Amino acid sequence: MDVLDKITKLTGEHNAQLVVVSKTYPADRVKEVYDSGQRIFGENKVQEILEKKDVLPEDIQWHMIGHLQSNKVKYIVPFITLIHSIDSEKLLQEVQKQAKKIDRVVDVLLQVHVAQEETKFGLDENELTALAQKIAHQEFSHIRCRGIMGMASFSDNEDLVRKEFRILKGLFDKVKSQYLNNKDFDTLSMGMSGDYEIALEEGSSMVRIGSLIFGKRNYS
Ligand SMILES: *Cc1c(COP(=O)(O)O)cnc(C)c1O
Repeated sequence: MDVLDKITKLTGEHNAQLVVVSKTYPADRVKEVYDSGQRIFGENKVQEILEKKDVLPEDIQWHMIGHLQSNKVKYIVPFITLIHSIDSEKLLQEVQKQAKKIDRVVDVLLQVHVAQEETKFGLDENELTALAQKIAHQEFSHIRCRGIMGMASFSDNEDLVRKEFRILKGLFDKVKSQYLNNKDFDTLSMGMSGDYEIALEEGSSMVRIGSLIFGKRNYS
């Protein structure tokens, strides 16, 4: 079975969505995956999304999965389907401001940091609950908070990875039960090429997969 078939079968069995992570891959490769039926694509750089959006079909749902600088928010707010990477209140305020300007409600996920790597962006548990509380008090009229996103450590240690996904699921459940108990808060974005099967077992509702589909990435 083709790898994309395997991934779509597994995500389907878990009622999860697949975000095809197309960062660094050229538009013609993305178009091939589009032609096989995929419509949700994830990028981590604003410039790259804008370039690809220009040359690829209009019905692609673009997801922003990488660290987002406040000064670039305005370029993606008009069309982005989901921003996975809200990692500060300041950034959320900027999305609110730009979304309000064009009267569009933007879907976002709060990015949580649980992995061991120092370099990863994201909120810690206290920052997460503080921000969820503000959202619950409706301080952001043009934001719809859909859930949380996180990454496990890049590690062959399956127990560690599983434990981190469990922590993310626990935080998702906590925020949902205590602060954002509504039907919009339904997305737990976790799992990548190397660990998506574990993520699905631990309750992921959205996996973000690139290199397993496209092959090894050449960072330029
Ligand atoms: C690159 C990236 C992915 C996909 O990584 P692969 O290992 O290629 O599947 C998923 N999530 C985020 C946030 C990324 O930056």
